[in-house]
Formats: sequence, C-alpha cells, structure tokens
Amino acid sequence: MELLEKIRQIGEVHAIDLLGVADITKFKKEIAAIGGALVGDYPRALSIGIVLPHSIVDLLQDRESYENIFQYQTHAYQVINARLDTFGSLISSLIQKNGYRVMPVPAADRIDNDRVCASVSHKLVARLAGFGWIGKNCLLINPDHGPRIRWTTVLTDAPLLENREIMENRCRNCQECVKACPAGAILGRNYIDGEARELRLNVDKCQAYFESLKRLNRLDVCGMCLYACPYGRKSNK
Ligand code: SF4
Ligand code: SF4
Repeated sequence: MELLEKIRQIGEVHAIDLLGVADITKFKKEIAAIGGALVGDYPRALSIGIVLPHSIVDLLQDRESYENIFQYQTHAYQVINARLDTFGSLISSLIQKNGYRVMPVPAADRIDNDRVCASVSHKLVARLAGFGWIGKNCLLINPDHGPRIRWTTVLTDAPLLENREIMENRCRNCQECVKACPAGAILGRNYIDGEARELRLNVDKCQAYFESLKRLNRLDVCGMCLYACPYGRKSNK
C-alpha cells in the first residue's frame, strides 16, 4: 500500500476531515524567513484539518456567557489542537519509518508574538493543498466549512503527490467578518498573493482586544471573524 494511502487510513480512524499534500517549494524563501533554514528545506507538506463542531462555534453568539466561551476554548481550540498534534506525531513516525525526513508543526504554533505568526503558516499550506482561499479575515476559507476548521501541518521530503488546483478567492463583496470584528481590526481588503498581511488585518488592534478581555478578567477568546463567515454558517444549515 502506498504511504499516502496508509496515512489516509490512519486519518479515517482519527476522524480527520481534510487531508492533502501541498508542494511548498515555491514558498521556500518565505517559509525559511519565518521558520528558519531547516524548516524551509522541506519540499512538501501535509495539510490536515478537523471541522469544528457547529454547536460549539455558535455559542459565540452569546459571548457574555463565561460557560459559552469556556466551551469554545475547550472544544473548538484546545481539544481539537491536541487531536491534530497527536495525529501529526503518529504519521510523522510512520513517514520516518519509511525512510523520509519529517517535521510535524504544532497546531497552535506561534514563534513570534509581535508578528503573531507560526514557524509555518497552516493556512498557506492548506491553500496550496487546494482546500480553500485566504479570506478578508486572514483565515483559510473552505467552500464547504468556511473558516470553521483547525489545521496542522507535517513537513516532509517523502514523495507524496497530489494534483489539486489552488482555489480562486470567493470573498467577493462580502464584509461579514469586517462587521463582526469587535476591534475593527479587519480592513476589508481581498487577499492578493505577496501583499503584506498588514494591508488586510491590523494585528495590533486584534491583540489589544485580547488584552482588554484579560484586564476585565474574561477569557481571552474572540473568534467572531470565524463565527460570522457565511461559508461556515451555510454549512451549519
Ligand atoms: S479574533 Fe476577534 S478581534 Fe481579532 S480579527 Fe478576529 S474578530 Fe477581530
Ligand atoms: S466573512 Fe465574507 S469577507 Fe470575510 S472571509 Fe468570509 S466570505 Fe470572506
């Protein structure tokens, strides 16, 4: 059995919803600039996603409720990230046993608190794997589940191949995430390859909002740009 097929079988057992391969060689420089030369050296990446439970995401409608936010933090973030990391670790062992180099990237990776970025962008890899486009909210938007997916990435040099097209941007004139953001951090501009994230998202405003929640002794959880996207809400119907 081919290695990718074995990985998919393990994915079935672990209820992984999306699993694909991205050729990341074109972004080698960008990836190395953030994650370092060792990270930037991998030619391929597995993109792995779990769809969030809609009942949990929809609790964000009443964000004044501590219980709602605690539920969201636990079941739309911590537990799903732990499941993604466990799966990433399992398949990394399998890939290594087959004689290839491999590096699992933590699902909740953040190596730079100022720039708010991970060593490898899970969203970039998911986009290159053909799972969606980068929305005005800077999240990966999947046509079936919107941004209601958590992602992880496993870098490798294993010869895993898939032919998936990169999806075109379908945000068009929608401004729902812009309107929903309590910090006014989403600037309403469509994603364009190579453009700086700062043109679409004011990260400082988003971070300041999280800090303000902490000062009020509230859980520092937002997620309104994830909740509001019509592509995710549509999939809840
Ligand atoms: S997490 Fe909240 S504050 Fe930050 S961009 Fe999204 S909606 Fe705005
Ligand atoms: S809410 Fe609208 S503009 Fe924002 S990411 Fe979703 S589709 Fe794009």
